[in-house]
Amino acid sequence: MKGRVKNKIILFLVSLFLIPVAGFLLSQTAGGETTVYVTSTGEKYHREDCRSLRRSKIALSLEDAVRSGYGPCSSCKPPELSGDAAAALSRIGGLYRVNAAALSSSAAADIYQMVKAEVVGHVDGDTVRVRIPNPPAELGAVETIRLIGVDTPETVHPNRPVETFGKEASDFTKSRLLNQTVYLAFDWDLRDRYGRLLAYIYTAEGRCFNASLVGEGYGHAYTRFSFQFMDEFRALEQQARRDKRGLWGGGP
Ligand SMILES: [Zn+2]
Repeated sequence: MKGRVKNKIILFLVSLFLIPVAGFLLSQTAGGETTVYVTSTGEKYHREDCRSLRRSKIALSLEDAVRSGYGPCSSCKPPELSGDAAAALSRIGGLYRVNAAALSSSAAADIYQMVKAEVVGHVDGDTVRVRIPNPPAELGAVETIRLIGVDTPETVHPNRPVETFGKEASDFTKSRLLNQTVYLAFDWDLRDRYGRLLAYIYTAEGRCFNASLVGEGYGHAYTRFSFQFMDEFRALEQQARRDKRGLWGGGP
């Protein structure tokens, strides 16, 4: 009788010890993912209870946070990847490529897997300059981006009257993107022959700005080179033409 009670006590004590151990092992094997939090505008990632998350709080994995260029918050001291893991992450799959992700439309992209950047300069309707905090290995800290899949008037018809709409297209891009935090997605080719980065620019609301340019009639679908959203951009251009938007309407 005494022996059975003793066994029960031992069993009870062992289970007390095993439950947290099993819990720990499960948490480690469930993808090994650590969740951290970012705001819609900041450049740091945080622990869930950090005061910096008062205005907005977006959960993502530690890996995605590092891949997107977020650095650890210095006040809440969230977990960090080792230097080796962070370097490996920026080398392997560090760039979000819409062709590799086999996306069927530009709206299906996930901005939290993208490289985060700030638009610091404006060249024309389809070309901007960005600054990239913690750039992955393939990218520089400052890059000139040529938007994929769209051509705005001044670069496509340099000697035609339609060029006049280049100014409107340029102003539209400037007003929507300059000084904004944006997210970059890539496709087949990373750069053009001038060394400019070829990218889709997504706004913080998750909208593809390249598609907006075509859809609003500020540029036409540039189909000389194949890209993942070619059919979608062609359809957007057709709709803009039917609706006589932007350059298709003969005036702003
Ligand atoms: Zn914090």
